[in-house]
Amino acid sequence: MDMWYSKHSPVFETKNSKSIIHPFIVKGHRGLTINPYQGCQHRCGYCYATYEWSPEFYDKIYAKSNAAEILESQLKSWKSDTIEPVMVSSATDAYQPAELKYGLTHKCIEVLQKYNVPYYVFTKSTLIERDLKIHQEYKENCFLVWSITTCDQKIRRLMEPGTPPAYSMFKVIKKFADAGVSCGVNIDPILPFITDSQSHIQEIIDCCHDAGVRYVFGALLRLRSDIWERVKIILKLLDIENGIDEYKNAIYQFREPLKSWYNVAANKSYETKVLHNLKEKVLQKGMIFDFPDLIGTRRLNSNKSYNGGRQVMLMSYI
Ligand code: SF4
Repeated sequence: MDMWYSKHSPVFETKNSKSIIHPFIVKGHRGLTINPYQGCQHRCGYCYATYEWSPEFYDKIYAKSNAAEILESQLKSWKSDTIEPVMVSSATDAYQPAELKYGLTHKCIEVLQKYNVPYYVFTKSTLIERDLKIHQEYKENCFLVWSITTCDQKIRRLMEPGTPPAYSMFKVIKKFADAGVSCGVNIDPILPFITDSQSHIQEIIDCCHDAGVRYVFGALLRLRSDIWERVKIILKLLDIENGIDEYKNAIYQFREPLKSWYNVAANKSYETKVLHNLKEKVLQKGMIFDFPDLIGTRRLNSNKSYNGGRQVMLMSYI
């Protein structure tokens, strides 16, 4: 199992990719995604992208140095008349610290804009502030989402030690919101007994409201064998009494060992309770418990019309 906690800096390597824009299917919904990097320095213990085939996920960061060129060539030869919004990124954070060194996400965003492709950015970063101007100039056709799990510094440092503190992220979000860019916060994952309390959620919602966030959504942690091993350590380090037993016997209801291909969701009644609580708090603050569709009427510069086609909603992915 890849350990998320380490005092060592990651190793960086560059590589060339044959293709960068890929279909992305989650829960039967199709979309597109680009990942300019492989691996992630944000080191979240609950990360879903840490598959067996990427054992050095946290410790070795690959920069796909030809990402922008490949993206442009794929868009130039796009075979369909329609294109779905592109998710930047699905298996890494496109604005992790490596972006300072390589600038690949910035270049890819320029290409997406050149071809009038709508996009969503998902990040936990403050580095995205560097690109405020280019996203602002494209604000009708992009949507930025910060994944924020906690305002509690102790929990953050333990659970996602490579991420910036929530208060820094909210400062940056406010700048984007003030600049008229659509901003969302995805409280995902919500971890039972760690970040699911009413007060915990309320603190994030209050910060969202103060920062000018319009859209908020969230989801509960799903367990996989490697994620479970890391979450067990987090529960122990946070000294959560009976936490491991409660996960196994009450919230997720499974027996160990978890098979590597199993993906376990929290039980329905617990999930409904937590998400209902979240929704109520979001609505009380006058925000929207959802994400917007990116419906465009622009044309690709290759003269292929983009008519909104069959839009893929962000909610499809979470
Ligand atoms: S920021 Fe996203 S991709 Fe990076 S470690 Fe955290 S959950 Fe994984």
